[in-house]
Amino acid sequence: MPSESPAVVMYREITMSTIQPTTRTKVCRIPGRADYERTTVEAILDEGLICHVAFVVDGKPYLIPTAYARDGRSLYLHGAKSNRMLRAIIGGETCISVTLLDGLVIARSVMHHSINYRSVVIFGKGEEVTDPEQKLHALHCVVEHIIPGRWADARQPNDQEFAATLVVRVPLDECSAKVRKGPPVDDEEDHLLLVWAGVIPTKQRWMPPEPDELLTQPMEVPAYAAAYSRPAKYE
Ligand SMILES: Cc1cc2nc3c(=O)[nH]c(=O)nc-3n(C[C@H](O)[C@H](O)[C@H](O)COP(=O)(O)OP(=O)(O)OC[C@H]3O[C@@H](n4cnc5c(N)ncnc54)[C@H](O)[C@@H]3O)c2cc1C
Repeated sequence: MPSESPAVVMYREITMSTIQPTTRTKVCRIPGRADYERTTVEAILDEGLICHVAFVVDGKPYLIPTAYARDGRSLYLHGAKSNRMLRAIIGGETCISVTLLDGLVIARSVMHHSINYRSVVIFGKGEEVTDPEQKLHALHCVVEHIIPGRWADARQPNDQEFAATLVVRVPLDECSAKVRKGPPVDDEEDHLLLVWAGVIPTKQRWMPPEPDELLTQPMEVPAYAAAYSRPAKYE
């Protein structure tokens, strides 16, 4: 079989790393802030901790915050077997978003105040992860997403816990990122106003760990907890 030319390989790599916008994921307002690079979407998802999952039950919309993990092109959610949100999105449409707050944008004009952010919106249908090995892997991903290094240290799920837990995968095929960064965008004539303008940046700060009072003896705080942080993976 003839091998692919370098140009073909490069084209395939570029198209694989870019998510094709659909009619649903095409950013309309300020499209210059849209980003369909897979690396951008993944970096935002990997830095975030909480997503909001939208679903419809009996014609009424719900939006519920929950934990998640990304593994390759999959987003994993988990919860109790009876979890309504998870039940609704198994085989059903969902829209999931993750938002990281980077700063407040203080403009000279009240109407140009804004927020610096990185956010992702995902559309898709959920599917239950039933294969025990994959299900355990997904649970591992969720714990490691929240606190890397923890899974191997803590007790593993017993049969009852495992059976009582529902794991759902949502494919990361139809998604968009949107990023606002930088200073305020004031009208040019407003630049002459003697009104302070700028950005108040923000970063999430983690405090020193507080040991559980029920620890049976003093224990050293594990390094992954003592030095916990969620470093930005996207500049
Ligand atoms: C913290 C924060 C504060 C914001 N405040 C405001 C505000 O006050 N007013 C305002 O109008 N907008 C605000 N936005 C932007 C808002 O999220 C939308 O991008 C905006 O409403 C424009 O929507 P649209 O009509 O272009 O998009 P729509 O037509 O509603 O969306 C089309 C598609 O674009 C994609 N998309 C749109 N927005 C985002 C996003 N933020 N992240 C990833 N994908 C996206 C989705 O795939 C969506 O389905 C804020 C965003 C964030 C994260």
